[in-house]
Amino acid sequence: MRPMPKTNVVLSRAAWKKLVEECFDRDGECKLCGSGAKDTFCPHHLIPVSRGRVDTLGNLITLCYACHLRLHGGELSVTVDELIDRYNHPSNGA
Ligand SMILES: [Zn+2]
Ligand SMILES: [Zn+2]
Repeated sequence: MRPMPKTNVVLSRAAWKKLVEECFDRDGECKLCGSGAKDTFCPHHLIPVSRGRVDTLGNLITLCYACHLRLHGGELSVTVDELIDRYNHPSNGA
């Protein structure tokens, strides 16, 4: 039984690369720690790939390598909802 319709959007390698660049350009920093070290940026899926891969700009957020590792390693207790919230309401330095 599959209650949810399949919404996977999977891109070609080149299109994915372009999308990731757009994501990095848009965010310009790690959305968790605010690091601007571009060479450590990783694209992170807001809706986890495990729930169906959605490769769209709206589903991607920029994280630095360290934050990305910690997030996936379960060391950070940030939920997807919190991430989206942070994303929609960038912190004012607090
Ligand atoms: Zn970071
Ligand atoms: Zn990720």
